[in-house]
Amino acid sequence: MTDMVLLGDEAVALGAVHAGLTAAYAYPGTPSTEILEYLVRYEKAHGAPKAAWCTNEKTAYEAALGVSFAGRRTMTSMKHVGLNVAADPFMNSAIVSINGGLVVVVADDPGMHSSQNEQDTRYYADFARIVCLEPANQQEAYEMTREAFDLSERFHIPVLIRIVTRLAHSRAVVRVRDARPQQPVRKASEPSSWILLPANARKQWHDLLARQPTFLEWSEASPFNHLRLNEDRRDLGVITTGIGRNYYLENLDELGFQPSHLHIGAYPAPVELVRRLVGHVGRVLVLEEGYPFVERMLRGIVSPDLEILGKESGHVPPDGELTPDIVRRSLGLKARKGLDAPDITLPNRPPQLCVGCPHADSFDAIKLALAGFATPVVTSDIGCYTLGALPPYSAVESCVCMGASVGMAKGASDAGLRPAVALIGDSTFLHSGVTPLMDAVAADTDMTLIILDNETTAMTGGQPTILPPTRIEKLVLGLGVAPAHCHVITAHHRHTEANREIMRKEIEHTGLSVIIAVRECIETLKSKKKA
Ligand code: SF4
Repeated sequence: MTDMVLLGDEAVALGAVHAGLTAAYAYPGTPSTEILEYLVRYEKAHGAPKAAWCTNEKTAYEAALGVSFAGRRTMTSMKHVGLNVAADPFMNSAIVSINGGLVVVVADDPGMHSSQNEQDTRYYADFARIVCLEPANQQEAYEMTREAFDLSERFHIPVLIRIVTRLAHSRAVVRVRDARPQQPVRKASEPSSWILLPANARKQWHDLLARQPTFLEWSEASPFNHLRLNEDRRDLGVITTGIGRNYYLENLDELGFQPSHLHIGAYPAPVELVRRLVGHVGRVLVLEEGYPFVERMLRGIVSPDLEILGKESGHVPPDGELTPDIVRRSLGLKARKGLDAPDITLPNRPPQLCVGCPHADSFDAIKLALAGFATPVVTSDIGCYTLGALPPYSAVESCVCMGASVGMAKGASDAGLRPAVALIGDSTFLHSGVTPLMDAVAADTDMTLIILDNETTAMTGGQPTILPPTRIEKLVLGLGVAPAHCHVITAHHRHTEANREIMRKEIEHTGLSVIIAVRECIETLKSKKKA
């Protein structure tokens, strides 16, 4: 056994390596990015396991499925909204007979530190009717990841690990164990189970439903779920999940007694343990990060007389992260007095593009090119350039999900808004912008797509884009965009006037046009120079 100081994300990565991981795939997304970054570094240092960035979460998931089909252990990691992108293979993989262990790690972002929404991945595990593990700390992140591969092979299902921002991005000492070797290639013994023709799929769906009691039986006995009843005090019971346990334990000393406590780290939620707790107490407080997942389950299985305190009762805020102070208040404890801070006024520092960012030069050219139009619409996508929505640029009007800028500009143009301009980054274009561009090509939509190609995935820290700029142009032309209306320009203020002219000409053209504005992100350029 060795002690190491690891981020929650790194604990997951090392847990996978020590479980005999053969290959891992991901698309970067905060707060999950550091999982694959750790594995990429590990592969460079040790030659294995394989760790690869992919075009998007769906392609990452599908590559992992191929490794599992070959009988070897594999992992795919993503942020919560990434699972929406991978939802198709995810849901279907629940009914194939998983061969080599397949672990899906999803990092939820309560509080929306760097995300468009809060969503709770435990619902996805429930939706797919599979097993989910939820670590409460970095040690559990390591242990549960190791265990998840065994479970996946035992139950022949993908196993989902749900972590949250605060765990993913904080460090703690983790006691690690010996690594297991990778498994040999062993093709799936039931390859027909991977052919989801209706006749097979119906049977396998039926089998998955029939195994639900087995999953529940496993969960009731899992060491990740533990119940402790206080025989002397029956007024309050507490249910914690994931890192909610840490905040609860932090406040316990001041409560003056130990309420009966059920901690849930493994799902399906252990119904029998829940019944034993609620049968023992008059009130239950549920402390869980994300949606009221356990709280709603409770309302379905306990008598209406039991008082349930949680997000739906207003005792815990319905959104954002849990904190020790929120948990104090929900336990009825007085707010802790903090240190008096001197009276200082901090300047308001909204997020902004780096000085010299190529996107800033593109925004200048776009604004000049759009001057004089009465009702222009400029849709944006997800990346550093989303900051173009803020002053001083105020250059874009939407940001919904990966790839949506292209489809939304098409819709706005179809609806009669002119000119319609879509902005998207290179990595995001390859992730989800290619398919809506095909729709626009098919319809020769009157719109202009500007691909802001900074040659990296900058917002998540500079992971590589799958294709270099030269190949993005070829891809765009290959989709059927007319060569006369496809331009590659340099995103630099020295070229603002020339770029404005090209943009203006294409915006005035009736039909589809694509402009690829290329200049490397100055942050990745600086890192390369330092290396
Ligand atoms: S990281 Fe790169 S792309 Fe993002 S704002 Fe800074 S220079 Fe621009």
